[in-house]
Amino acid sequence: TIPVITLDGPAASGKGTIAERVGSALGFHYLDSGALYRIATLAALDAGVALDDEAALAELCRGLSPVFAEGRILVAGEDVTERIRSEEVSRATSRVAALPAVRRALFELQRRAARTPGLVADGRDMGTVVFPEARLKVFMTASARVRAERRFKQLAARGVAADLDELTRDLEERDRRDRERATAPLRPADDAHVLDTSEMNVEEVVKKVLDWWSD
Ligand code: C5P
Repeated sequence: TIPVITLDGPAASGKGTIAERVGSALGFHYLDSGALYRIATLAALDAGVALDDEAALAELCRGLSPVFAEGRILVAGEDVTERIRSEEVSRATSRVAALPAVRRALFELQRRAARTPGLVADGRDMGTVVFPEARLKVFMTASARVRAERRFKQLAARGVAADLDELTRDLEERDRRDRERATAPLRPADDAHVLDTSEMNVEEVVKKVLDWWSD
């Protein structure tokens, strides 16, 4: 079986950064499952598909074949790397991701990411639903304020102005939707290590995950 590490947690908890760092330290592939839900949502918005038309959205998901290359994401030839990160897409994605048929449609695409020599997968249900057999599962948390501050700094570094209170509210709203949905709600797997990163920097978190891995 292929070694898999899952990193789940709420929005802006730093999963992506940690997953990439751990993946490159181990030479493993990296799956950004949130990007798949974002890509599907952007495609729906562009195509004018209603965000509650579950059958049409699932059909659209089955037709997706995004390409991840050198830090860029291409969909049907278009570079959507920046567009899928907008606040509009972020908000819409947590609605689309609540639909069971959408989750089923994206399941195989995610399973296929597990290839030798191994995979680091980040998302909400990597440890609970998509890779229940994973050898190491980590659930990362941090207070909503800390997560909003991190997002604020990322945006500022890209020259995007944002309002900290509004970011905090948006994160809390998305987390609530992700936690309360009936299908694959955001929660730690029973066998996950829960890690509160509020007071930790990136290096410390990466080290912690690698230590668990080598245990
Ligand atoms: O991780 P990211 O913030 O990019 O995910 C965007 C949204 O996609 C989340 O708010 C969540 O609703 C959804 N998602 C999900 N399951 C995953 C990954 C993301 O439902 N495994």
